[in-house]
Amino acid sequence: MYDLIIIGGGPAAVSAGIYAARKKLKVLLITKDWAGQMSKAALIENYPGIKEMSGFDLMNKFVEDLKKNELEIKQEEAVKEVKEISKSELEVITDKGSYQTKSIIVATGRRPKKLGIKGEDKFIGKGVSVCATCDGPLFRDKQVAIIGGGNAGLTTALELAEYASKVYILEYMSELKADGFLQEKIKQVSKIKIMTNVKTLEIKGEHFVTGLVYQYRNPGNNKELVIQGVFLATGSLANSSFVKNMVELNKGEEIKIDSKNKTSDQRIFAAGDVSNISHKQIIIAAGEGAKAALNVYDYLKNL
Ligand SMILES: Cc1cc2nc3c(=O)[nH]c(=O)nc-3n(C[C@H](O)[C@H](O)[C@H](O)COP(=O)(O)OP(=O)(O)OC[C@H]3O[C@@H](n4cnc5c(N)ncnc54)[C@H](O)[C@@H]3O)c2cc1C
Repeated sequence: MYDLIIIGGGPAAVSAGIYAARKKLKVLLITKDWAGQMSKAALIENYPGIKEMSGFDLMNKFVEDLKKNELEIKQEEAVKEVKEISKSELEVITDKGSYQTKSIIVATGRRPKKLGIKGEDKFIGKGVSVCATCDGPLFRDKQVAIIGGGNAGLTTALELAEYASKVYILEYMSELKADGFLQEKIKQVSKIKIMTNVKTLEIKGEHFVTGLVYQYRNPGNNKELVIQGVFLATGSLANSSFVKNMVELNKGEEIKIDSKNKTSDQRIFAAGDVSNISHKQIIIAAGEGAKAALNVYDYLKNL
């Protein structure tokens, strides 16, 4: 039986793994992949110690450091359910097996929210994307639309402007929600056009995307943009469904934690973007992961 199972492979899980292994706990880390949200960031400029680096490269460095420690890792394995065996034993069930443990840290991050409009599912991978870093180069000299005017949308727009001939940002509200710093940057790129008060209705095409139907909210006749790519940047959802029967979630399905990363079940801790912490950033996720591991250590010591 493990002392601790860490679920996830982003900055929160990696730093939890490092801290727990250094405390000599018997640890298993289970992750679908190392390609969490961080690996989708084109350029990280706000992590101390590195001036700038792609999220993918920084994630590789994190994983390299993790693997120097003594812990077991199961990658390409997804957790499906967590169950109670007894008061002191939990079972983590994956798509490949099941494992017993005294405690768990959930650090499974978030996934992009869907728009729920016609054409979205049909054209995923055929013009519809959630990752500019991964797919940006495919849109060289093409016209693209980004749905969402928050930080994610504007970062995506700046990245795509390096390849695309024209970049539209479509925002439902009357103003962009992104940080002022990003809004200033966007204004300096002439090929980016901002459209506010816009409701997106349908992604069109035959085999690949050829257009996007939208409507100005007030009043609205349907209009169509000729584009070859649609990037979704309307927010994200917490990856918490596999523990929803064990721990309390908030309305946004984030796992509720206290200042010691404890959930409503004393054996289960959570860290990073899957939890209800107020800011979602790499340094915060990494810090929360370390803190969760130290809190698990204290919990196990007092059993
Ligand atoms: C495009 C983009 C740009 C960003 N830019 C920046 C930036 O410049 N600076 C910054 O500080 N932050 C940035 N962020 C935010 C940052 O990436 C996140 O705050 C951070 O990655 C959260 O880390 P995490 O470990 O909580 O979760 P994640 O990074 O989401 O990692 C979650 C991990 O859990 C795994 N997982 C999920 N479900 C399961 C399951 N059921 N079983 C097993 N494994 C599972 C996933 O495969 C993944 O490896 C950006 C985010 C995005 C999307």
